[in-house]
Amino acid sequence: SVLLGLCVGILTTLASGYVLSTRSQPGREILSGIKRNQFSVVWQPVVESSGLRVTGVEALLRWQHPQAGAIPPDAFIGYAEAQDLIAPLTQHLFKLIAADAATLKSVLPPGAKMGVNIAPGHMHSPTFKDDVTRFVASLPPGYFQLVFEITERDMLQEKEAVSLFSWIHEQGIEIAIDDFGTGHSALIYLERFTLDFLKIDRGFINAIGTETVTSPVLDAVLTLASKLNMTTVAEGVETPEQAKWLRARGVNYLQGFLFSRPLPLRDFVLWQRNRIPP
Ligand code: C2E
Ligand code: CA
Ligand code: CA
Ligand code: CA
Repeated sequence: SVLLGLCVGILTTLASGYVLSTRSQPGREILSGIKRNQFSVVWQPVVESSGLRVTGVEALLRWQHPQAGAIPPDAFIGYAEAQDLIAPLTQHLFKLIAADAATLKSVLPPGAKMGVNIAPGHMHSPTFKDDVTRFVASLPPGYFQLVFEITERDMLQEKEAVSLFSWIHEQGIEIAIDDFGTGHSALIYLERFTLDFLKIDRGFINAIGTETVTSPVLDAVLTLASKLNMTTVAEGVETPEQAKWLRARGVNYLQGFLFSRPLPLRDFVLWQRNRIPP
């Protein structure tokens, strides 16, 4: 099938010698991966662009496959969605996050934002609202500000988005439009929905400092965000030069390797404790 082909293509690039044969069943592998605890969550800090104070984190999923090694989320999320496994996988992610929450609480300020990527396949699934309700109840009460990150591309496919988004807001959860600038122009959605954050795709951030003239699209995105009064987050910030430029342009939050890679809980705690804010 197309899916197997896709999966094989991805796994072969891992150069681990492991290839899913057409006889193997990746769907079953995801389920057994959940059972065998092969999935984990890593945390990447989000910092205030002004003071560079850590104001939040984003949860990112990892799959340590026994044969294939580390499989990146871009390679298995879409696959899990197509196999109707995104709900069980996200339920599992919610549990992993809840298990880390008490420790995270000890190193993050009250109201710290906790970004969680939500796949549209899960939003559509019949268990979504129950999953979210249970997830919220599993976190330290009133401490974290949850932010659901939904990609611009996925928003366009979301027909019931208006009512779902208001339901999400009613649960006290904020919404970020992820990878902004890479979709097929969701501009109309910016007016229709109340979205809290706009995450500027790292493709635009990459270009800062490498080109004499910055992207007119990035300029337009920043102007638009300020006119709509939306809070902005730049992702993929790798150099001080980029951070400086974004700060000067009024971007509210920064995220990227310049500050930290996504880290397992223990490493994140050490990073946060040993950090000397600039
Ligand atoms: P995303 O939501 O845009 O996440 C940001 C990605 O950029 C992460 O890749 C992160 O490691 C990477 N990144 C952060 N800072 C930098 C930087 O300075 N430079 C570069 N080059 N990269 C940076 P990751 O963890 O491989 O995740 C890829 C995508 O997979 C995510 O993109 C997200 O769309 C999806 N994903 C990850 N975890 C989950 C999850 O739990 N659920 C769902 N539905 N999707 C997830
Ligand atoms: Ca994200
Ligand atoms: Ca993103
Ligand atoms: Ca992305």
